[in-house]
Amino acid sequence: MSSSPKLDGGSSSLGRLFRQAMRCTCPRCGQGSLYNKGLFDLTLRGVCTSCGLNLAKNDSADGPAVFLIFFLGVLLVPMALMFDAAFSPPLWVHAVLWGVLAIAITVVSLKPLKSLVIAIQFRHRASDWDE
Ligand SMILES: [Zn+2]
Repeated sequence: MSSSPKLDGGSSSLGRLFRQAMRCTCPRCGQGSLYNKGLFDLTLRGVCTSCGLNLAKNDSADGPAVFLIFFLGVLLVPMALMFDAAFSPPLWVHAVLWGVLAIAITVVSLKPLKSLVIAIQFRHRASDWDE
């Protein structure tokens, strides 16, 4: 399987890239799952179960988490400031509200974001994926 040619390499459309990222599937075939089972497990499978692409070789590491930290900071800090200016709640309300919201957004979006970074790496750095 490791000698199979790339099915759609760098010619996939942006829409397909996002759909594959949202489904957390292999950037080459769009069929095999990128991750092991489990809501909080971000460990990549070693190889795609469908086409045999070596996934472990191109893990995106902490990049998606850094993107998400910046995005959440830009999103949540102004919201918290506006909420405080409008309602002046006690500090424990801020801690619970924004803490829960930040964790919920992270749990929902980190796997698709990591999948998107991997798909972008696959699309634009094809030589790194050669076997
Ligand atoms: Zn695959």
